[in-house]
Amino acid sequence: MSDHYERVKIELQQMKEVENEAAADGEQLSPASVSSIPAEVSFTARRDLSRSSVNGRSRSKSRSKADGHERQVNDKELPDPTAQKSNSSQGQSRVSNEPNLHIKGTARLLKGKTAANGHVETCVRQTDGKCEHHGKEDGSKAAKKRRAVTVDTSKAKTSLEALKMSIRQLKWKEFPIGRRTACDIYWHGVSFHDNENIVSGQVNKFPGMIEMLRKINLSRAVRTMQQLFPEEYNFYPRSWILPEEYQLFSTQIRLLKDNDSTLKPTYIVKPDSGSQGDGIYLIRDPADLRVISGAQIKQAVVQDYIQKPLLIDKLKFDIRLYVLVRSLEPLEIYIAKEGLSRFCTEPYQEPSQKNLSHVFMHLTNYSLNVHSGNFVHSDSCSTGSKRTFSSILYRLASKGVDIKKVWSDIIALVIKTVIALVPELKVYYQADIPPGKPGPTCFQILGFDILLMKNLKPILLEVNANPSMRIEHEHEVSPGVFEYVPSPVDEEVKVGVIRDTLRLMDPAQRKQHATKYINVYKKSNTGGGSPEEAIVVETGSDEKEGMADSLPSLCLKQVFPKYTKQFHYLRVVERIAAIFLRFLGVKGTMRLGPTSFRTFIRNCKLSNSSFSMASADILYIDITRRWAGMLPDSREAGKRPTNHDAIYSTSSLPRPTHNQKAVKKPPIKDTFATIHHSAFPLACSHK
Ligand code: ADP
Repeated sequence: MSDHYERVKIELQQMKEVENEAAADGEQLSPASVSSIPAEVSFTARRDLSRSSVNGRSRSKSRSKADGHERQVNDKELPDPTAQKSNSSQGQSRVSNEPNLHIKGTARLLKGKTAANGHVETCVRQTDGKCEHHGKEDGSKAAKKRRAVTVDTSKAKTSLEALKMSIRQLKWKEFPIGRRTACDIYWHGVSFHDNENIVSGQVNKFPGMIEMLRKINLSRAVRTMQQLFPEEYNFYPRSWILPEEYQLFSTQIRLLKDNDSTLKPTYIVKPDSGSQGDGIYLIRDPADLRVISGAQIKQAVVQDYIQKPLLIDKLKFDIRLYVLVRSLEPLEIYIAKEGLSRFCTEPYQEPSQKNLSHVFMHLTNYSLNVHSGNFVHSDSCSTGSKRTFSSILYRLASKGVDIKKVWSDIIALVIKTVIALVPELKVYYQADIPPGKPGPTCFQILGFDILLMKNLKPILLEVNANPSMRIEHEHEVSPGVFEYVPSPVDEEVKVGVIRDTLRLMDPAQRKQHATKYINVYKKSNTGGGSPEEAIVVETGSDEKEGMADSLPSLCLKQVFPKYTKQFHYLRVVERIAAIFLRFLGVKGTMRLGPTSFRTFIRNCKLSNSSFSMASADILYIDITRRWAGMLPDSREAGKRPTNHDAIYSTSSLPRPTHNQKAVKKPPIKDTFATIHHSAFPLACSHK
């Protein structure tokens, strides 16, 4: 085995040398891929290498905030800011002990100033509180010279309206029924696979994102991180996965109640495949779990119910934030400075047996509350049942709340959640778009649903792979007759997010910045600083320069790699995913057998005196058996390789690319998921 390890080391060393040579020849190299992965594992997802810089160069700009509709917040509902400080300092994570993240955009967003250069406002508010969009079109010469970026919108579905508006503002070219030749950007409404024949350009979905963000998988990914970094990941409610953890759930609740009979905890049950509040209900006892025919519990996540949310106007609300994952390798994350707050329509009371079934009191989903007689459609962004998040921050700030702290906690939550998802996303990515094969690069807008607790701590509720980008809402014009009418709040937020996502993905910008980025990286490699520093330098200059003279400032703020240093230590599982992927490359196989698993354990340095290789063998048998029976979509994991796998692992046939529809995706992903969810508790002892 040590021979094998030596061989792997030599091979990796050789690959590194090839990469270094390539860099010297001007080939694009990713600094982050080097900086984030241990020296002996320099895995790089080549497909994403070209996206190695940040294109956003503009400063954040304001949105005017003046509004006469603010109602006074009931003092009881808002926490005392000093109390909030002491609360939030308890149990602070390592990250929050570090200097606070600097949120440039927020302050300006709230002050409502116009940018110093007098250029465009993304949205100005009229005196009646209506939002209106102004894109200053001063027709810069550079923009005119460039070939218009082409966007295939044929699969955009419900995001079409907002997308069309964005393309118009950018003066790009739309292809509503597709195009025979390749487009620069493909906008999919549902998944990466909406259109199977893309071999170049960029697609707005990552393979595997929908799967990873199903409630069970998200819970698993975050729980793995909770086991490794309990304090850092305490923003996610304690969760159990049903039906497999039903016994565990029942036992834990029984013990809790036995210890203190006055306790009346409440739990929220969410079906795995549900969305928009569908099938969600509250319980106070495991016996209340609803069953389906055959007395089997549905696949679901059951969670601690957050009993003390922050209230505004006595109502519970949540926050929808849009997050752009611009690239996985290197990891680049942007957060929209503006989001939406969705309000319940019945005054909140802490859960009791009487009110458990009051959905308008406990669930903030727009799709549910819109059917309540109390739902308020408003043209103002700061009143009604759907408001901008900045209007909430504004209101909190006026009560003395430290909103910078709230924002920095939210940013930390977003970065940590994406870090939890990335390892498996990379495995999906490589399975769908193997390195060296033609295929597009990917980016994706995610919808983060966040609840603020009474003490202002943000709690992650869920992440949506396909957040609604509709900019109109259903309006009942007469009983039973509905029509779609524009929603100013949705338009303000969503068009900005789509337009600025497109700007960041502009191929011309990308190329230009990639070159700059590589130069900085090369410099850093020849003694000019570390690759990590290179990222920081480059990002800073991008933000200063301003992206395009003729457009509003970016509403998307880069948060990663900007804050790389603060979060780097959390990227442990990702390194192991890199080893896993590298290992598959070396062996030319799509899944790990028992021997490979042993080598994998060694490479990850997971074995020691208390965890022998014999234990690794037992673990392998255990997890393959367990996983095989656990999830319907994972049923092949742990079984013998299929003919398909055998063909590709024993011959030199090139693996089909995603567009040939023949890639067998679940096994590779499941094998990794099996290992990392089962084996990572072990890693804790190696921290
Ligand atoms: P869905 O995808 O169906 O919208 P969510 O996880 O977003 O599922 O839950 C729906 C709503 O239920 C949320 O918007 C929130 O109002 C409420 N909710 C979800 N989880 C919790 C929780 N752990 N504590 C309190 N409220 C919650």
